[in-house]
Amino acid sequence: RIADAPILPRDEAFAITLDFQSDPTPEKVSLGAGVYRDENSEPWILPSIKMAKSVVERSLDLNNHEYLPIAGFDPFLKVARELVLGNYNTSNSHVLSIQTISGTGANHLGALFLAQQLRPRNVFISDPTWGNHFLIWQTAAPHVIQEKYPYYDAQTRALNFEGMTSMLENAATEGDVVILHACAHNPTGIDPTRDQWRSLAQVFKRKKLFPFFDSAYQGFATGDPEEDAWAVRHFHEVLFEDGPGNTPQGMCIAQSFAKNMGLYGERVGAFHLVLPQDTPSTGPYSQLLRLVRAEISNPPLYGCRLVYTVLSNPTIRAVWYEDLRKMAGRIKGVRSMLKQEIEKHENVGDWTHLTSQIGMFSFTGLSKDQVQRLRDKHHIYLMSNGRVSLSGANEGNVKCIADAIAEVVQE
Ligand code: PMP
Repeated sequence: RIADAPILPRDEAFAITLDFQSDPTPEKVSLGAGVYRDENSEPWILPSIKMAKSVVERSLDLNNHEYLPIAGFDPFLKVARELVLGNYNTSNSHVLSIQTISGTGANHLGALFLAQQLRPRNVFISDPTWGNHFLIWQTAAPHVIQEKYPYYDAQTRALNFEGMTSMLENAATEGDVVILHACAHNPTGIDPTRDQWRSLAQVFKRKKLFPFFDSAYQGFATGDPEEDAWAVRHFHEVLFEDGPGNTPQGMCIAQSFAKNMGLYGERVGAFHLVLPQDTPSTGPYSQLLRLVRAEISNPPLYGCRLVYTVLSNPTIRAVWYEDLRKMAGRIKGVRSMLKQEIEKHENVGDWTHLTSQIGMFSFTGLSKDQVQRLRDKHHIYLMSNGRVSLSGANEGNVKCIADAIAEVVQE
């Protein structure tokens, strides 16, 4: 009976936002949701997006409400693909691109497709990760065993690179899927260095593991979308390079435009499946279309038109680069202000990790109890694993946040 459906706990990220909204205290601070806020804690509509909106509004081609094809808006897919893969060498690989309901839809489509066509035994997911990875694979690919690979070392507050590598070396087998965060790892804010990425790529190549890049923050980490795409492009280059016995299965990318274009609710994303040049694409492509047809029939129009306009119009694209630098720059500024303000207090320990981590989040190291006290006593909301979204901080509230953190740490 429907009435017997077990009650599940609320999704933490969305629950925090609701709790925050219903807190009547004027000094409350939200460091929960992974959304960018300006200096006044208000949503920011990117100037590049405002320009794109006016172009779309005036365009005869882009201003109707017709259905898109099942795969989505082709001009959008082309610029989206180039944004993440660059001008890739087309002699060894080819890419199938499908428009999705933002990054979540891309992760979901990828999980469904790979579970059916690649049939991995395991999917390796970083520990910790964006919580939805587990849920998506549970619902889309229930027969694939989920394994966590070590990622964060709480003691050193750094990447556990040895742990990660040895897990992939010893526990992963050919055809297993490994989810990698393309940049600005959520929730830790810690990415492998270039040398570490290089060495990981060799492990993937040698062991024939299938990299599944989740790219939700391109341009948001460093302010430069080229730089932030380095790991994805490096894997693409290494996995598909000519060499005796090199027969890669492929790799894929789940791409979101929620954060880097501030288009959260518009749900614009893409799934890119990279295959060796000699792998026929008609079968895989038809399977992807089948999954999309059954789920959403065809994707929404508005957001993809905006992204297409931003990326294809050189003037607007230049403004977007500015927007990215502004967002990334403000977050960086908040990181050092917060560190400075916390360290003005005594007995609070070292907060260097705030400035060494990148992207929208910081993994503070605060315990569950400290997080609860921040909420109950100071009306500051963050995830129970100690992750803060730095976009909720600004010059106006950073001292209050720092004082509160100091107070709970000194307890
Ligand atoms: N992957 C990661 C790691 C994320 O942090 C997010 C956003 N929180 C997403 C994917 C997808 O988000 P969206 O569906 O809004 O694009």
